[in-house]
Amino acid sequence: MSNVRSSNLGFPRIGEKREWKKAIELFWAGKIQEADLHKQLAAIRLDNLKLQKEKGVEIIPVNDFTYYDHILDTATMFGVIPTRFNYVGGEVSLATYYGVARGNTEATASEMTKWFNTNYHYIVPELQNVTPQLTINRPLLAYREAKEQLNIEGRPVLVGLYTFLKLSKGYDTSKLDEVIEQFLPLYVQVLQELAAEGAAWVQIDEPILVTTVDQEDYKHIQHIYETLQREVPSISVQLQTYFGAVDQYEELVALPVQGLGLDFVHDQGHNLEALRKFGFPSDKVLAAGIIDGRNVWRADLDAQLAVLQEIQQLAADTQILVQPSSSLLHVPVTARTEEKLDVVLKNALAFAEEKLEELVLLANAANGHKDEQAFAVSREAIQALNASPARNREEVRHAAAHVSEQPSNRAHDFGVRQVEQKKKWQLPFLPTTTIGSFPQTAEVRAARQKWRKGEWSREQYTEFVNAQIKDWIVKQEEIGIDVLVHGEFERTDMVEFFGEKLAGFAFTSFGWVQSYGSRCVKPPVIFGDVEFLAPMTVEETVYAQSLTDKPVKGMLTGPITILNWSFVRTDLSREQVSYQIALALRKEVEALEQAGIEMIQVDEPALREGLPLKRAEWDQYLEWAVLAFKLSTSTVKDTTQIHTHMCYCEFHDIIDSITALDADVISIETSRSHGELVHSFEEHTYPLGIGLGVYDIHSPRVPSVDEMVSMIGRALQVLDPELFWINPDCGLKTRGESETVESLKNMVEAAKQVRVSR
Ligand code: GLN
Ligand code: ZN
Repeated sequence: MSNVRSSNLGFPRIGEKREWKKAIELFWAGKIQEADLHKQLAAIRLDNLKLQKEKGVEIIPVNDFTYYDHILDTATMFGVIPTRFNYVGGEVSLATYYGVARGNTEATASEMTKWFNTNYHYIVPELQNVTPQLTINRPLLAYREAKEQLNIEGRPVLVGLYTFLKLSKGYDTSKLDEVIEQFLPLYVQVLQELAAEGAAWVQIDEPILVTTVDQEDYKHIQHIYETLQREVPSISVQLQTYFGAVDQYEELVALPVQGLGLDFVHDQGHNLEALRKFGFPSDKVLAAGIIDGRNVWRADLDAQLAVLQEIQQLAADTQILVQPSSSLLHVPVTARTEEKLDVVLKNALAFAEEKLEELVLLANAANGHKDEQAFAVSREAIQALNASPARNREEVRHAAAHVSEQPSNRAHDFGVRQVEQKKKWQLPFLPTTTIGSFPQTAEVRAARQKWRKGEWSREQYTEFVNAQIKDWIVKQEEIGIDVLVHGEFERTDMVEFFGEKLAGFAFTSFGWVQSYGSRCVKPPVIFGDVEFLAPMTVEETVYAQSLTDKPVKGMLTGPITILNWSFVRTDLSREQVSYQIALALRKEVEALEQAGIEMIQVDEPALREGLPLKRAEWDQYLEWAVLAFKLSTSTVKDTTQIHTHMCYCEFHDIIDSITALDADVISIETSRSHGELVHSFEEHTYPLGIGLGVYDIHSPRVPSVDEMVSMIGRALQVLDPELFWINPDCGLKTRGESETVESLKNMVEAAKQVRVSR
């Protein structure tokens, strides 16, 4: 049987206590010098390498580290700097690098977007009018550093050319051939220099291969890797895919590379199936992603060893690597320090550091040196969590498993509800409202800290929050908004707030992962069956309603957003977990209604980002996602008005699913691409209530009345005025107070002007 080696694909950059973030932010604030920044980040980088070596990982990646984002690094390495930064060639300064990432006084930042189906965001390279050049050989420097400083023979990681170009913008895609020819010599040079330095292998990441790719794509891929092979025959390429099954296995294994990395965790069994069917070339290395690089749980080592052993059998003469399914960038650093968690839960966790141990255990076991004791410890930890009462709430399980028995349709169609709601609410033509949150000022955050630290009692904190609510109810009335909100002052974050009040969620102390740049998030962990315990939002909403005769809209986060922004247990399907959350939220919806809150918004900003990478799988996801939303919102009276909100404008390709939510009113973020969105309604009519954001809340600028009047005018050319609402395009929590009031005044004035002109 073949000899198996352990390998890693990438390690979190942020450091155990987010030292990385802190150093970078100090540098931005001018509190440390560039030299200090280099020193501090080098220390983190070397510590990460040392740790991987100590854990016994045989193949350690280098150049997975970054000062902000690895796609931005790739762009700067090739001199791809937007022309507005007046870059003249040569090595890119740190000032320009961070300028592209964050904007500076001269030029606006590049766009940032989600890295495949993760919550990591990369900077979109802009190829317009740039001539690619090699400004620095980053992989080479990383390789040299690891060797010289730690005697580690690292495997340099590069973002593959095809993925890089597919994620870039600003070029004519019909001329992709030409663009490839511009960059290929630079890749060749990078590899040649690495080879000259003594590197035997490189890892080239091409995650684009797990999306839907066609023959045309393969022709390009084929050409790229043939060229690299021909020009630099002395270096071996491990072509690495992750985040799912590859689309065209047979083509892929035939590529002229020496190693192929496949994800055997998020592939829904397809990669393994293909391996069974087509085998694997014996002259290539098979790098098998066996440990989940995307979640926080211990692996079921017995099950994963069985997979590995099957792979060993199927590729009997092949050198095999056992790896995480993707870079460990997407998981927190270590579970070792999570002392505050329940011990059963803590023992069942594996963050990056613990996953390295699992890789080594699996490699050893596959080589005939199974550490029975370690396997037993792991098995018992998982069994203990599975046996815990938190995971065995029979009623919850049953209800979620039988959702077809639960109501998931409103009593009547929208047509009927619309008439009833019109009578009940007596809203003006083109009603105005907001998305939910008002500015979370330093004062609001300080108050929450005082309460959390025990400096303030629960009563003191409630009193403070109520004062804020009252203040903003008064403000909203003065401004003249029609449907009010309480302002969400009691909430830190739209998922954490609910997670803390529902059963089945846990919160780590240090479970941070990088979201974008220096920004890290600490996703809740859904470890148990999710159950409603007590009303979560009723008190604040009812209090707000008691202060006004205008309707106050209740504000909840929807099941799919809660799911997509958490680390989710893997012993149940995501579908089942979403139903559990949905049924818990339904109780909140019902509690609000009973308390007299009869407009309720259920936000689903993350509905779209949960879409699978392959189009063919969209329908299935959308079907259960829509059902989950409807399970939470369908039991209310006809007159109760359900709102929802989403934060994106790419709307047309899932418009049927959005319509199927059957929300009485939806508000969408649109103002940055109002024209485009309005255009998409020329092709698709939207049959329910809809508010297209009439101004961009992401900017502190106060929009003028005229601007908003014309925005509204454009929307009304294609949307039914009877169904149209007027609102900003997202929550206002990041805005300042005075600009918020000014903007909303102008918005209400714009609505009034349009009303009289009609
Ligand atoms: N109701 C939330 C708010 O206003 C919605 C936030 C969001 O869409 N991300 O803050
Ligand atoms: Zn939003």
